[in-house]
Amino acid sequence: MHKLNRPTEPVGLVQARRAYNGTPSQDVAWKNFEKDEIREELKQAQSSLCAYCEVALGSTTRIDHFKPKRLNYALTFDWDNLVLSCDKKGSCDIRKGGKFENYWINPYSTDPVGMFKFYSDGQIKGNSTNAQNIINDFGLDCPRLEKKREGILTSLKQTILALENEPEALDYFLQEEAVMFPTAYKQIIDKTIGA
Ligand SMILES: [Zn+2]
Repeated sequence: MHKLNRPTEPVGLVQARRAYNGTPSQDVAWKNFEKDEIREELKQAQSSLCAYCEVALGSTTRIDHFKPKRLNYALTFDWDNLVLSCDKKGSCDIRKGGKFENYWINPYSTDPVGMFKFYSDGQIKGNSTNAQNIINDFGLDCPRLEKKREGILTSLKQTILALENEPEALDYFLQEEAVMFPTAYKQIIDKTIGA
């Protein structure tokens, strides 16, 4: 996870919130709402990555209500409560389900820098009890994600070590942006070069 900047609220959402005001079923209202505009805005703001696990988003994504809408009807069309998630089983929105915990971090509101530690074998560890609980609640350590991170981070580390004596080539390589897992990517670069 890394800090995200929320773009201006789409007009369609403002209109939907006004129209919805007082409607008893938030689920029906949300289901009928045309979500393409907000999906696109969030996707751009998140560089086409899941806000939680940082995998590249595929063609199917989930608009997560960070705080479940059942807790408060007003959260249904609350722009600050909407986060774009991957749709993979075992992590992120699907793993969160309808739950909510006060120690959870919405990366649009809170900077998670320093909360999580990544290893080149794909593991993730929390730097506090809350961070460790978030990893568990969001499934950020599920085998699928660990395996995917391991592939990318191991080859990153190997490339850096292979270019150790070729500073120009290494600089050139490090200019490339991470395709996914940018937080883990940066940590492994810092750790490997600092070693
Ligand atoms: Zn995800």
